[in-house]
Amino acid sequence: MTENLSILGSTGSIGTQALSVCEKLGIRVSALTANSNIGLLEQQVRKFRPKLAVIGTKALAEDLRIRIADTDTKVSFGIDGLCEAAMIDEADTVLTAVVGMVGLKPTLTAIRAHKNIALANKETLVAGGSLVMSEAEKEGVRIYPVDSEHSAVFQCLQSCPDKKLLKKLILTASGGPFFGKTRDELKDVTVEQALNHPNWSMGAKITIDSATMMNKGLEVIEARWLFDVPVENIDVVVHRESIIHSMIEYCDNSVIAQLGVPDMKIPIQYALTYPDRYSCDVGVLELAKIGKLTFFEPDYETFRCLTACKKAMAKGGTATAIVNGANEEAVRLFLDRKISFLDIGEIVNNAFDSIESRTVTSLDDVLDADRAAREFVKGIG
Ligand code: NDP
Ligand code: MG
Repeated sequence: MTENLSILGSTGSIGTQALSVCEKLGIRVSALTANSNIGLLEQQVRKFRPKLAVIGTKALAEDLRIRIADTDTKVSFGIDGLCEAAMIDEADTVLTAVVGMVGLKPTLTAIRAHKNIALANKETLVAGGSLVMSEAEKEGVRIYPVDSEHSAVFQCLQSCPDKKLLKKLILTASGGPFFGKTRDELKDVTVEQALNHPNWSMGAKITIDSATMMNKGLEVIEARWLFDVPVENIDVVVHRESIIHSMIEYCDNSVIAQLGVPDMKIPIQYALTYPDRYSCDVGVLELAKIGKLTFFEPDYETFRCLTACKKAMAKGGTATAIVNGANEEAVRLFLDRKISFLDIGEIVNNAFDSIESRTVTSLDDVLDADRAAREFVKGIG
């Protein structure tokens, strides 16, 4: 069980829920990081008294230093600050809960400093999965999934004595706010409509990814790396109620599922307490009240991001970093109301078709591919 945690992205949806888990379980917190939310970071510093607080820019760091001058917390900033938080001596585990592939370098830094990783930041594995998993193996570090589907698979796998007995992973998808809609009906979707997720309350980027189903594509790639299962053995099924969080199928066609109310505190807590379990401040699952659970095939024609992710994973190399980088930029443009909802899928597919995939041998290969994808998208805009 985690005794001392460094949280990258402490002011976000995952970060704030992780802090309430830490508070309840008495897990100490040695580092907290934010990008720009200085007010919340200051409150968190006052409450949790970490050794280090990190913020996005030098100017914000100067402001934060003045605000918390009465505490013993040191202040750093930028990517170097994130890496400092990732390798802080006191922490045994680093929770990566920043949004986007900016988390890749700090995650590698944490692994090299022999920290276990509680991984929420899926873009890190999508962009640099081969690097992260091989470093983790080399350093003997564990990566515990926080993403609810991957936590579900991880929990189901506790009953799997031999990986050879495993046939498939079945990831569930809520289908987001636009399930069942045609492309024609999605032409004029607004930012507000796309941010209105039916089951989960999350940060803006992942909420848009859920609406385009890019999120499920990213999760297929994330699962491929976390569980070392070929992508053709990872299925996606739309399950509107978000009660079954994912499943595994054995060679005898027996299926094991993990269920619960849709609340990220369960997977966050399990990643921090594995292999132990403690009571958790979430609702009880009352199946009779829910009545029925429904399942559908995903619509790959309408939700083209999902298709792009599957193609990128099959291609390998930097292709997944390219679709991820293009998506991060496209989502930013959509949130800024510069492109339409359907443009996101078009852009991600065009980036995949237009930018050559290379073999990944180093972090620079991934960063170059990410940069190329972002420049491609900016060139369109
Ligand atoms: P949020 O947008 O709510 O929070 C993101 C956090 O990262 C904030 O602390 C933010 O700081 C910080 N941050 C943002 N941009 C940067 C940057 N460029 N450099 C450094 N820090 C940055 O995101 P979520 O908590 O929703 O998601 C975090 C990660 O977890 C994502 O990868 C997401 O896909 C994954 N995830 C989230 C789930 C959820 O339920 N929310 C479920 C499963 C996975 P600030 O507040 O100052 O902007
Ligand atoms: Mg998920």
